[in-house]
Amino acid sequence: MDPLPLAQSLLRCPSVTPEDAGAQAILAAALQDLGFTVTHLPFGNIKNFYAERAGPGAKLCFAGHTDVVPPGENWKHDPFAGAVENDFLFGRGACDMKTAIAAFVAAAAATPGHVSLLITGDEEGEAINGTARVLEWMAAEKKIPDFCVVGEPTCQARLGDTIKIGRRGSLSATITVTGRQGHTAYPQKADNPIHRLIPALAEMAVHRLDAGTEWFEPSTLQITTIDVGNPASNVIPAGVTAKLNIRFNNLHTEASLSDWIIEILAPHASMAELKIHCSGEAFLTQPGPEMEKLSAAIAGVTGITPAQTTGGGTSDARFIARYCPVAEFGLIGATMHQTDECVPVDELRNLTAIYQAVIQSFAR
Ligand SMILES: [Zn+2]
Repeated sequence: MDPLPLAQSLLRCPSVTPEDAGAQAILAAALQDLGFTVTHLPFGNIKNFYAERAGPGAKLCFAGHTDVVPPGENWKHDPFAGAVENDFLFGRGACDMKTAIAAFVAAAAATPGHVSLLITGDEEGEAINGTARVLEWMAAEKKIPDFCVVGEPTCQARLGDTIKIGRRGSLSATITVTGRQGHTAYPQKADNPIHRLIPALAEMAVHRLDAGTEWFEPSTLQITTIDVGNPASNVIPAGVTAKLNIRFNNLHTEASLSDWIIEILAPHASMAELKIHCSGEAFLTQPGPEMEKLSAAIAGVTGITPAQTTGGGTSDARFIARYCPVAEFGLIGATMHQTDECVPVDELRNLTAIYQAVIQSFAR
């Protein structure tokens, strides 16, 4: 089965999160034609579904999203036309990641194996009513697979060069210190909140959170803003707010980092108000037999042994990692979220061949 027509049909649906615009109905129909049982799992205003076809071997799940980010302006082709020019397929989602879904469906059509698909319409949005909720349903229905491949674009320069086996976590903190306003000539009558906050921030900025691990870069902290908004040069302000962002590896958690920030603030500004937002904990699937199978299948088709990395932003794999081993593998991510997002048609067909080899190796 050629993945191109299905990829084009999906690209023609303007499914900007949270809209579905018919994308999942097209996909579900294609899967039903191939003998998959499809269970639609809408949560809130988000469409999702789970599809499964029984077969030999280990249970392999493919996870993907049919939603896309807004196209923006100045495309040379309509971003929702699925246009092909000079053997490139154009459209919002051509790279991230409607094409990878089409590639997996085409691969499953040609290859027996116990295969399921977890499809969400909420990856580029809040990710609340998507993958996390479908996984809860899958756990309740005893449908957690032995291994999951997420079809995000992971490759750098050549198809096959990179698998993502984990991601760093991201934590943002907003720290507000309130003091007592006063005249700069009479500081003894005031309490300068900036003087309390700065030493605490200085300690955080120079602190080495860790030295990295075998699979992760060292965790990093960046102070992103310090706001006072004081127009006067003779007034000690009443308050100051700072924000920082920490990208952390699996030596830390939201809880451990929150405790650490509180500990540093305590001697300087114990009255500080702290707001934490963690958009995802760090996660890692340790290399094991499943990861070996995935790597070997990729190498068998491309001749490249993929690097196993944990770089980049977060993805829905963070939810899946709580249930089963998971890796991300897809196209070259060069044009994701960009104007004129596109993929060489050849690359789409090669990805199909790789996914076929993956299904084969898990079916053995
Ligand atoms: Zn994506």
